[in-house]
Amino acid sequence: MLENIRVVLVNTSHTGNIGSAARAMKTMGLSQLYLVDPVQAPDGKSSAMAAGAGDVLGNAVTVASLEEAVSDCGLVVGTSARSRTHSWPMLEPRECGEKMISEVPKYPVALVFGRENNGLTNEELQQCHYHVCIPANPEYSSLNLAMAVQTLSYEVRMAWLNQERIAETEAEYPLNDELERFYDHLESTLQGTNFIVKNHPGQVMTKLRRLFNRARPESAELNILRGILSSIDKAAGKK
Ligand code: SAH
Repeated sequence: MLENIRVVLVNTSHTGNIGSAARAMKTMGLSQLYLVDPVQAPDGKSSAMAAGAGDVLGNAVTVASLEEAVSDCGLVVGTSARSRTHSWPMLEPRECGEKMISEVPKYPVALVFGRENNGLTNEELQQCHYHVCIPANPEYSSLNLAMAVQTLSYEVRMAWLNQERIAETEAEYPLNDELERFYDHLESTLQGTNFIVKNHPGQVMTKLRRLFNRARPESAELNILRGILSSIDKAAGKK
């Protein structure tokens, strides 16, 4: 999933920043780095700053224009140190992470970063669906490029971890048909032990259904119950 999240650096001047951005990305599990017309191609300084993220740096794709970098993306978010005066849909960093994670199953998504000296041009910003601004100190809001990459990649990771955690804790419930098979099994076992008398069944099954439906057994729990019934069947059969 994180493989379809792209970090795009536009017209970067300092090769060290490219390496630092690669490192920032890798620490947050991101790997797709695109370089739009870098002033200088990655060099030894980039590698030194990338440290253990040489793979991200080595796999970076260099293209000539922002258009090329994001042509196959379904969501493009541009970053800016200033919440611009011209109106454009804005996202908070947290919302940005959540939005990217929610849309990335459908298509690649991109976070676009600007030049160290003057950010993204208006034309580039207008190629983005949303803008995101890290709400830094209003008196000095311009982060180092790689640190902005770090901050926004962190938000993407937090959104991803949150989603993974929810997916993990969500119990798997049996389908209705599986529950019905369990009730059939329960009834037949209870008939086998004569707890339920075939010709005078009474309300026992209705009450047991109500009990189990209220408890809403998870799939794994239902498997245990089925196992218990089988063990009773087996023991009763032996007698
Ligand atoms: N003087 C430039 C700042 C460029 S900083 C300007 O005013 O636009 C280089 C890049 O780092 C920016 O283009 C943006 O991609 C990112 N960046 C820096 N500070 C940021 C912030 N507070 N919020 C979002 N992105 C930021």
